[in-house]
Amino acid sequence: MKDHMSDALEGRKLRPESLMMSYGYRPEWSEGALKSPIFQTSTFVFETAEEGKRFFEIATGQRECDEGEQPGMIYSRLNNPDLEILEDRLTRWEDADCARVFASGMAAIATTLLAHLRPGMVLLHSGPLYGGTDHLVKDLLPEMGIATVEYLAHMSRSAIEARLAERAPGKQLGMIFMETPANPTNDLFDIAEAVAIARDHTTEDLRPLVIVDNTFLGPVWQSPLAHGADASVYSCTKYIGGHSDLVAGAIVGSHEAVDPVGAMRTYLGTMATPLTGWLLMRSLETLAIRMERQTATAQRIARFLTSHPKVHNVHYLGLLDAGDPGYDIYKRQCTGPGAMISFEVDDGEAGAFRFLNHLELVRLAVSLGSTESLAEHPGTMTHSSVDPEGKLRLGITPSLVRLSVGVEHPADLVVDLGHALDAV
Ligand code: PLP
Repeated sequence: MKDHMSDALEGRKLRPESLMMSYGYRPEWSEGALKSPIFQTSTFVFETAEEGKRFFEIATGQRECDEGEQPGMIYSRLNNPDLEILEDRLTRWEDADCARVFASGMAAIATTLLAHLRPGMVLLHSGPLYGGTDHLVKDLLPEMGIATVEYLAHMSRSAIEARLAERAPGKQLGMIFMETPANPTNDLFDIAEAVAIARDHTTEDLRPLVIVDNTFLGPVWQSPLAHGADASVYSCTKYIGGHSDLVAGAIVGSHEAVDPVGAMRTYLGTMATPLTGWLLMRSLETLAIRMERQTATAQRIARFLTSHPKVHNVHYLGLLDAGDPGYDIYKRQCTGPGAMISFEVDDGEAGAFRFLNHLELVRLAVSLGSTESLAEHPGTMTHSSVDPEGKLRLGITPSLVRLSVGVEHPADLVVDLGHALDAV
């Protein structure tokens, strides 16, 4: 689907918010339907055998498209109009070459790692990572002969290099994978610095890619590509989907980073379904207004939490001041603080559980980025599989609670949080 805009708008540079309702789709393709239908089909009919042969040659990389030639639809594991239109729309938020959509955020991350890493390489990654990614990186990749080395926020570049040399001596750096802000602590990592490290480790045969999990702030408040990253990956289950009614993931970036991941997706079958693609297109239309509202409310809630006597260590980007660790990165890298807050309550796990058990409007559930506010206990839930020593090193303490702020009325949320804190 290469056509991008109705003729009347061609030549005008529109912002992503203005493009999400129509980009990449023309009503005349579907009986005048204003919205793209759900192309609920497993396979597509070729007009001739010669056409089928041409489509396969392009899809399998045997040849490039000729001038004016479009890659045709073949089979919904390879491509589907709902996924292709969605992928074109996702590129607009980050001015990216291309995107691919997946069955989950984990499917996007796993397919990306498998497409680019090989036995004998080392993956350098930030910590903490979302619990599922942490397990994939620390337990599964090493079983496949891929070494992994973690670095923490505020480590100097020379300390990161020293750790890499000590823990994976002589190994080729294959990729830097960073989650910034980190789930659940909101630790920030410097994308431009990672790009410089990757540049220094480039050999004749390999340029290590920098891949950023942009789930917490993106694509509205942070654009890793603008800071030199090769691709952003997303759990679209979160803000992009935004309604707690689907599971999906994406990679958005350069052809060099994304094309091999797309090819790997074909063989692993980790793509999203047409219905999920369609639902995500619908969600993208309100992405910016949802994130703006959620962020405005989160700022109010963060102020309430910092002033509460039973609350300690509120980790929220909107509270960073000059001199705080992470402040300089925040100013350079992010355009808004987002709506994820984590904080500690009195009395360890017991206090955290009492707080969670007394929430009423805010729901006690994992996941984040949705219209409803959600709270959870990272230490025993999303990050339950992180080893105990790692949890403490990474700041995932027994008292830590994570809150994802939704679109409810801010005053109602403050009352609900206040009641639950009374129970601590
Ligand atoms: N990345 C981050 C930062 C996450 O928080 C999550 C899930 O919570 C994932 C990736 C995995 O996404 P999914 O649950 O869609 O597989």
